[in-house]
Amino acid sequence: TPDALDAVLERLNPEQRRAAVHGDGPLLIIAGAGTGKTTTLAHRVACLIARGVAPERILLLTFTRRASAEMLRRVDGILRELEHHAGNEAGTTAVATRSAAARKVWGGTFHAIATRLLRRHGKLAGLPPEFTILDRSDSEDLMHVIREELELSKSESRFPLKGTCMSIYSRTVNTQWPLRKVLKESFPWCEEHEDKLKQLFSAYVDRKDAHAVMDYDDLLLFWQALMRHEEAAAQVRKKFDCVLVDEYQDTNVVQANILKGMCPDGQGLTVVGDDAQSIYSFRAATVRNILDFPEQHPGTSVVKLEQNYRSTEPILEATNRVIAAAKERHEKDLWSERSQGEPPRLVFCEDEEEQTDFLIDRILAHREDGLSLTRQAVLFRASHHSIALEVELSRRNIPFHKFGGLKFVETAHVKDTLAFLRLAENPRDIVSGHRMLVLIPGIGQRRARQLMETLAEKRFDFRAWKEVNPPKAAKTDWPLFVALMIGLTQPESRRGNLGDQIGRVRRFYAPLLERKYDNARSRLKDLEQLEIVAGRFKDRSQFITEMSLDPPSSTQDLAEDPHLDEDYLILSTIHSAKGLEWDTVYVIHAADGNIPSDMSTDSPEQIEEERRLFYVALTRAKDWLYVTVPQRYYFHGRYRGDAHSYAQPTRFLTKDATACFEQTTAGVRSEEDEGDDAATGLDSSDIRQGIKDIWS
Ligand code: ATP
Ligand code: MG
Repeated sequence: TPDALDAVLERLNPEQRRAAVHGDGPLLIIAGAGTGKTTTLAHRVACLIARGVAPERILLLTFTRRASAEMLRRVDGILRELEHHAGNEAGTTAVATRSAAARKVWGGTFHAIATRLLRRHGKLAGLPPEFTILDRSDSEDLMHVIREELELSKSESRFPLKGTCMSIYSRTVNTQWPLRKVLKESFPWCEEHEDKLKQLFSAYVDRKDAHAVMDYDDLLLFWQALMRHEEAAAQVRKKFDCVLVDEYQDTNVVQANILKGMCPDGQGLTVVGDDAQSIYSFRAATVRNILDFPEQHPGTSVVKLEQNYRSTEPILEATNRVIAAAKERHEKDLWSERSQGEPPRLVFCEDEEEQTDFLIDRILAHREDGLSLTRQAVLFRASHHSIALEVELSRRNIPFHKFGGLKFVETAHVKDTLAFLRLAENPRDIVSGHRMLVLIPGIGQRRARQLMETLAEKRFDFRAWKEVNPPKAAKTDWPLFVALMIGLTQPESRRGNLGDQIGRVRRFYAPLLERKYDNARSRLKDLEQLEIVAGRFKDRSQFITEMSLDPPSSTQDLAEDPHLDEDYLILSTIHSAKGLEWDTVYVIHAADGNIPSDMSTDSPEQIEEERRLFYVALTRAKDWLYVTVPQRYYFHGRYRGDAHSYAQPTRFLTKDATACFEQTTAGVRSEEDEGDDAATGLDSSDIRQGIKDIWS
């Protein structure tokens, strides 16, 4: 009812409310960090549902699956409130039927939604519905196999490695630029290989096609293609009344084309973002998408938000000054009513060890003062920056979760296990096939290829492998393996409990795993966890898809009902912290050379992107912000910063910005503390070795 809606929208400011209740025309919300963009978007979705739009006709695109879950949880909360208000007004139950509606909204990342749509409508565009998805390392492996087959690496001068080939390919398809231009602008040292790269890429595309596998980029490219196919596009468009996108500043050209295809006249389209927070241009995202949106969609209403609700004034002032130095940006005047607050701290530490001590000291002190661990986060530029801290947190039994970096399902043993299911699901999946076959003793790359060919000749029926004569070393494993695969493809097992299926794979795989790794036991524990979690999924193909896209970082991430009473600290790369907020934020390793990273200091655009990245980090903080600078740190096998030249704080802390910070030294290490450290037996050389292992 209108009254109930008014009551709920009361807490938004007038601009936010205007966006929430906006009608059908194209809508752009462009505003700075912490101004309530995501909040407004959640209210808009709730308003749409309250006004009678069927939730399953709403498409909500977010940057991560976590963000999507969080947003839908919020929408659900708002709908409940509406229900509650409506209930208080005599006799109205209009919204009552809408409870649980949020669950019906199509929410997810572009990639996840692409997968769903392609499975249902891809046939029209000539796609088999049972395709499997290659993650980044799978696609690199496939690229490598083809590179070897074509004997490209045997060329006179050094041919780019598989990772570089993949990056070039990905950049080409995501920018939709000619290869020559991509090479010239981003990979000039590979220009001489243009022809060979072309040959490689087209073989790569053919191979994926022949084996019904898709890499991440394909998901977007095929969705784009679907929207260019008249009949298919009409079908997909017909499904949705509204399309809403958060973090629009980090989309690429293909994604913009998809949206244009979904809403050709812009009706029902809402996009939200902040140009000052665009940090994914290395993945071909372009800030032009958000800046040019009004031009691309005539009749766009633009909403700008200026009040920051997240941070205290002292923190906001510091972040405003950091971004003020950016070369190119829309002027935004952010202000906050939260005028009282602690100044942000710039903390100089002797070295990484002292930084770790300082962090733990502060984290525990804040916890004493009532800030649970979940309300604090440690952010860093590169995933390996947290290793020393992780070691120390584990040693002290302080629970933590890590976002970004290597994820649980990217670990070899979990990938191995999933490969069995993936091949059962799509027997043409050559990457999973190879991965699995070479696990078996006595089977090498060549033999694996032959076996996959045999399978193809027999129409992908695993019984074909029964007649194969296995190599001697595989005499016992082979029949068990074939029986397993035949079992997994039986219709009744296909529909059967997924946990049981993983259990069967685990029992076959365990002895192989024990031979391969010395820490087999903890790896087997992971697989048991996987088994439990998988038991909750109904659909095998859905499970595999979930595991391949935006993979969860731990089994806990996967569980539907995480232990709510558990308190843990968040460690996150800055990239993965986008859109999130915490009461206390520690931005660590903020030395120049780490941020901007030494690897990004050759082009002005890259430096600007690193500046925005630093801005994203700082703007996550609500009440407390610490920026720590270890003045000596180990880098590429040697100390950076010695007694004569200490590492400097990031250049993004300009004089202006630095003036907002209270500068201190960590000073946690007194003479006595040193003694304590020795007594605990913590050996810093262990930590150093851990760090060095990253490059070795
Ligand atoms: P980012 O750019 O980091 O993604 P954002 O613009 O999406 O930020 P939100 O995350 O939606 O901002 O909101 C930031 C904080 O401000 C949240 O804690 C939110 O609850 C709060 N907030 C937003 N709007 C209001 C409001 N009108 N009144 C009070 N608090 C608000
Ligand atoms: Mg947001």
